[in-house]
Amino acid sequence: MLETDYLIIGGGATAMAFVDTLLSETEEDQILIIDRNHQPGGHWNKAYPFVRLHQPSSFYGVSSSELSKGIKDQVGFNAGFFELASGAAVKAYFDDVMRHRFLPSGRVQYFPMSNYDGDGKFTSLLTGKQEAVKINKKIVDTTYLQTRIPATHEPNFEVDESIPFIPINQLVDITEPPEGFVVIGGGKTGMDACVWLLDNQVPAERISWIVSRDSWLLDRKTTQPSQEFFESTIGNMAAQFESVAQADSIPDLFRLLEQNGVLTRIDPTVTPTMFHGATVCQKELDMLRSIEKIIRLGRVQRITESEIILDHGKVPTSKNRIHVDCTASAISNLEITPIFQGDRIIPQTIRSYQPLFSASLIAYIESNFDNEDKKNGLCQVVPLPNHDTDWIRMLAIFMTNQYSWGQHKSIRKWLLGNRLDGFSQLIAQADRSDPVKQDIIKRMRNNIMPAMVKLQQFMKELK
Ligand SMILES: Cc1cc2nc3c(=O)[nH]c(=O)nc-3n(C[C@H](O)[C@H](O)[C@H](O)COP(=O)(O)OP(=O)(O)OC[C@H]3O[C@@H](n4cnc5c(N)ncnc54)[C@H](O)[C@@H]3O)c2cc1C
Repeated sequence: MLETDYLIIGGGATAMAFVDTLLSETEEDQILIIDRNHQPGGHWNKAYPFVRLHQPSSFYGVSSSELSKGIKDQVGFNAGFFELASGAAVKAYFDDVMRHRFLPSGRVQYFPMSNYDGDGKFTSLLTGKQEAVKINKKIVDTTYLQTRIPATHEPNFEVDESIPFIPINQLVDITEPPEGFVVIGGGKTGMDACVWLLDNQVPAERISWIVSRDSWLLDRKTTQPSQEFFESTIGNMAAQFESVAQADSIPDLFRLLEQNGVLTRIDPTVTPTMFHGATVCQKELDMLRSIEKIIRLGRVQRITESEIILDHGKVPTSKNRIHVDCTASAISNLEITPIFQGDRIIPQTIRSYQPLFSASLIAYIESNFDNEDKKNGLCQVVPLPNHDTDWIRMLAIFMTNQYSWGQHKSIRKWLLGNRLDGFSQLIAQADRSDPVKQDIIKRMRNNIMPAMVKLQQFMKELK
């Protein structure tokens, strides 16, 4: 029988970030990773060929190994901002971490191409052989959020077999130019499909885009982790707190968030009802705004040989157009559960938009704190947003966690040394003689308490 201290279900990015920190924070703990994929990285193994990270590489991956080359893009829609690793680079990176850090440590056993069956047992997908594992400490279930991607997703509507219908992954396989493209899905995947088509010279008039709900978006300029972007990154944090503190009502809050550059949207005449934390830069926004045929008639119900039937109407289509499915929602399980549950750990996000930083900090808390209530208190789950107003609850718990971490000298010190935490370092290293930076920090500090009070009030109104 195999034996381990921690059994990790899944070998995706969350598992990698968790294990990396567990290896750094403990001296002897043994770890066993079980994953259905043939190499680490989870959904990145099946991502569309032109996928890239949505936020800079410099704070993605595992804490101990750099993913970013430390450069800014000079061409393309992200020009001027820190690079966004490609899917291929992310996969190669995790493979490297497994081969050159995890396995040589002698403390990690890795079982790819294996399904976890429950009850400490797993089965090889190649041989069918089942193994049992004696677990001395805990199971870490990194599969709870059920990430879904286009390649592994079944659309929830019918499509006539005469209609060319492909997942976004197959866009790169096209050999015959169609009359046009119909991109189905208004989320980040749909945006990526539209931007890729436009970038490859498809005229905007040949693209129809089905958007069932408009989203509030984050501006990538606010995610740049370097002193030269202090005003846009930390200034954005100050703007968030100020907007909340000044808002008279929830609609007024969203007005201020947009006015202050915290949130943006594709069409200023349409009020978004969705918020998934999708991140874009101004050039992508300009490209998306060049598409005039945006179909806002609800969700697709059926595609026949001549029309697309939606919740609130129909539009004509034909077999001469390629229909691109971008309707997979990245995260399918939005229900939160405590992270520390006896002999089980269920990693979830404890800082907004940063699942890997979160996994790393959860491993640190696991290794350095004993009391389960205390651990859960330090790791309150920041719910993944779906509706626009989820932004409010997300910020409230993010702020509560930041406050709790700040009360512990050891956590404060650890955060400053963690590569995945780009932002604490930015504030700590801000030039004390720079009046602009110091003013931003002051605005942030002055608005924390008023913002917290207002967030509680808004959350009561939402109940
Ligand atoms: C296109 C895209 C871009 C993104 N960009 C960013 C970004 O820039 N920054 C950022 O912070 N986040 C980003 N994200 C968020 C991203 O989802 C996470 O960063 C992360 O990759 C999720 O990893 P995971 O390990 O939680 O899940 P997954 O990748 O789904 O990994 C879970 C693994 O568990 C395996 N598994 C499931 N059930 C079992 C079982 N029973 N037995 C064995 N194995 C099992 C699966 O096969 C999979 O390999 C992006 C997401 C997408 C889709």
